[in-house]
Amino acid sequence: MIPFVDLKAQYRTLKQELGPVINNVLASGAFTGGENVESLEKEFAAFCGARYAVGVANGTDALFLGLKALGIGAGDEVITVPNTFIATVEAITLAQAKPVFVDIDEKTYNIDPGKIAEKITKRTKAIIPVHLYGQPADLDRIYALARKYGLTVIEDACQAHGARYKGKRIGAKSRIACFSFYPSKNLGACGDGGMIVTDKEAVSRKLKMFRDHGQIKKYKHEVAGINSRLDALQAAILRIKLGYLEAWNEKRRENAAYYNTLLSRVKGITIPYISPGVRPVFHIYAIQTDNRDGLQQYLQKNGISTAIHYPIPVHLQKAYRYLGHKKGDFPIAEKAARHLLSLPMYPELELKQIDFIAAKIKSFTGGN
Ligand SMILES: *Cc1c(COP(=O)(O)O)cnc(C)c1O
Repeated sequence: MIPFVDLKAQYRTLKQELGPVINNVLASGAFTGGENVESLEKEFAAFCGARYAVGVANGTDALFLGLKALGIGAGDEVITVPNTFIATVEAITLAQAKPVFVDIDEKTYNIDPGKIAEKITKRTKAIIPVHLYGQPADLDRIYALARKYGLTVIEDACQAHGARYKGKRIGAKSRIACFSFYPSKNLGACGDGGMIVTDKEAVSRKLKMFRDHGQIKKYKHEVAGINSRLDALQAAILRIKLGYLEAWNEKRRENAAYYNTLLSRVKGITIPYISPGVRPVFHIYAIQTDNRDGLQQYLQKNGISTAIHYPIPVHLQKAYRYLGHKKGDFPIAEKAARHLLSLPMYPELELKQIDFIAAKIKSFTGGN
């Protein structure tokens, strides 16, 4: 059996180190905020090359609080993509703003910058590009549009910890970049967690206020905020794991490169396209094929678990029916939803397992 992700393999590597760290937190009696959270914020900001980082309860909150800190709310429109995890869009609607979708680029599956301008109205306040699968979106063109139209950019970097755009890590030049530490992300907690990085001190101060019931001092509530704490236990665990992140990302890139060599000439299979100037982190390794569902079943029968990211684009989800979209509104995102298949991908995946997976794909397609 080859699982889609293998968190137990990661635990085997870290067991010795995590034990004492967890015990220290338990003995300290400090479970929310405190030294581990503050240190992780500093260390993660430094890792990204960002000025400020603010720990929160999860990636969805990171995006929601990012919007709140920028003052985005009722009556505002926020541009994003329909092929993302629903949390990107939930953050917009939690802030009571309206999601406005832009179709994706057919090669990178990221937002198509050429289609953004036509969606900008007087109400548009922000663009949320998603660095899907760990490949940075076309940030130069997105930030240029934002400057031209006076918008802000909130990057959904929940799949892109450590990814580079023109040499710089995501977060290094971001107004706001949001990360999730959901267990299966490239940097994952043993539970939930999230982080926002920003280059603006004022934004970081607002974020700290919003995540803590809108208070600047105990029981002095400036605004209506929420409770979005990052646990000390998770922060302590994440500090250990952060030390491995670059090596893990490198292993993911090696695995992706090996998949590419084996699959690049297989008939009917399209391997991931990587834009010039980016260094992705392969949170997901997804191929495109016509008989996607058939291939997925065949691989499952042969002991290989795969996944689909994402089977239903957000504009066709029942939850967002009220936005009034229909099939055909975002044809490239819809095609991606029908054709993409995510293959097993994690740092501990072995080359001989990739050999086996590729061999099974070839035997299904009848390829060479
Ligand atoms: C995981 C993820 C989120 C949300 O993160 P949570 O920590 O699960 O709330 C948001 N956007 C994208 C693209 C994600 O992959």
